[in-house]
Amino acid sequence: MPAFLDVTNPVTGALIGRVPTADRAEVEAAVARARAARPAWEALGTRARARLLRRWADLLWAEREAAIRVICAETGKTWVGAYNELFVTDNISLYYSGHAPRLLRPQTRRALFPVFQHARVYYRPHGVVGLITPWNYPFLLAFCDLVPALIAGNTVILKPSEWTPFSAHHGVEWMHRVGVPADVIQVVDGAAETGAALVDTADCIAFTGSSAVGRQVALRAAARLIPYSLELGGKDPLLVLADADLDQAAAGVLIGALENAGQACTSTERVYVDAAVYAAFVERLRQRVPDLMLGTAEGHHVGSLTSARELARVEAQIADAVSRGAQVIAGGQRRPDLGPLFFEPTVLVNVDHTMQVMREETFGPVMAVMRVRDSAEAVRLANDSAYGLSGTIYTRDLRQGAALARQIDSGDVSVNRPLAIWGAAAAPMGGQKSSGSGRRNGPEGLLRFVTSQTVVVDRIPRALVPPGLTHLTPRVRSWIALRRWWLRFLPFLRP
Ligand code: NAD
Repeated sequence: MPAFLDVTNPVTGALIGRVPTADRAEVEAAVARARAARPAWEALGTRARARLLRRWADLLWAEREAAIRVICAETGKTWVGAYNELFVTDNISLYYSGHAPRLLRPQTRRALFPVFQHARVYYRPHGVVGLITPWNYPFLLAFCDLVPALIAGNTVILKPSEWTPFSAHHGVEWMHRVGVPADVIQVVDGAAETGAALVDTADCIAFTGSSAVGRQVALRAAARLIPYSLELGGKDPLLVLADADLDQAAAGVLIGALENAGQACTSTERVYVDAAVYAAFVERLRQRVPDLMLGTAEGHHVGSLTSARELARVEAQIADAVSRGAQVIAGGQRRPDLGPLFFEPTVLVNVDHTMQVMREETFGPVMAVMRVRDSAEAVRLANDSAYGLSGTIYTRDLRQGAALARQIDSGDVSVNRPLAIWGAAAAPMGGQKSSGSGRRNGPEGLLRFVTSQTVVVDRIPRALVPPGLTHLTPRVRSWIALRRWWLRFLPFLRP
């Protein structure tokens, strides 16, 4: 008798459904089926695989309301939040189905002795990719990696979060419906043990989740010498410089901090404001927060949190900050009248880096605002973090903004719009420091799912280098000297 996971709606508390959990033997059996299905899937060719996944994206887009209902039900997020997951997934699918055939085309490279030697690089899939995903974007974070992994010729086992499995099931069912074979993409359900079993059996792991679990996954994958990528937590800074448009910056903080009720890896969590505009900026934020509408319907701004664990963590961080001298100037309370896990958008001021709210990831609608002397101090404090995922700078001087962005230690930084990286399917996204390693999206996000194989064909005539028993005969050494000369003085011949 298998064990089951109950999945509940965080807003109503109603049971949405149950899924059987996969034990180690079932994960191994799924991986074996996926391994057997891989040669035929690879032989289909990149173009045919890309066509199938474009059909999937078209179907999904046409029927998006059904997927939005599933996402909203198991996460408690707003209608717009769920729509965004589909919109970004669709954009990424269109990008990879259009560009993957070119990005994975065999390439000719210069060999040691061009003309006489011919080198060609081929891309091969790793085999069976294990995808382990979190609950905060249960659709987007499953399919933004699944689509490139499949197009690259891998077969995939997806282990979604135990809290939100149905979004992944929904999208995978539709893949089967457009003709992706059942063993090419399979879902296994369960919690930590199921995920660990997948890390122990797959040929490559793409993990999205917390930094603590990411570390364990990396150690397990390293012990097996399999490739892995980690998309982990963040503590993203937003800098408001003295010349910023304060209305635009205040709106940006609300969007960045309250996206998915603050339960986003790239949500704005630390706001550093130049002393010259601090008072005016905080006032704007204070005025705008009461206009925000809590609820999940279309038009609402802030939905429910998904888990009681995160709600408790948000409250503990606020209490810690207040006990160290911070002030709550807006929000700060639960809203049980709307649902058990709703929490008011909260603005904290007088914060500093001794407080948990400035050091640990916050998964809730909290904006911690700190006054800084100037942009140099803002950059120093932005970099004073264990994390390095994303960041934002508000300034009217776009050149200065782009230059400062390059001083921030994170995988991406946007100027004058938070979360701008999201829809940009061609631009790589990922973390530095404890925020992870590897990149999703762009060519980088596809190439992590393949390994290269170089084939070198030697055509050096026997007359030039007769067969010998050592590598470096006097004849070869004179060739090397000649090669050195042409590389030094004829740069266009350099490899
Ligand atoms: P989590 O680390 O608790 O779980 C993530 C996934 O890992 C789940 O499917 C879980 O079942 C599985 N898992 C748990 N223990 C495991 C183990 N020992 N071995 C293998 N798998 C295991 O994270 P979460 O609470 O689901 O998600 C929130 C976290 O994800 C936050 O830290 C957030 O910042 C991060 N996140 C990062 C990104 C990104 O792109 N960088 C995106 C979204 C969320």
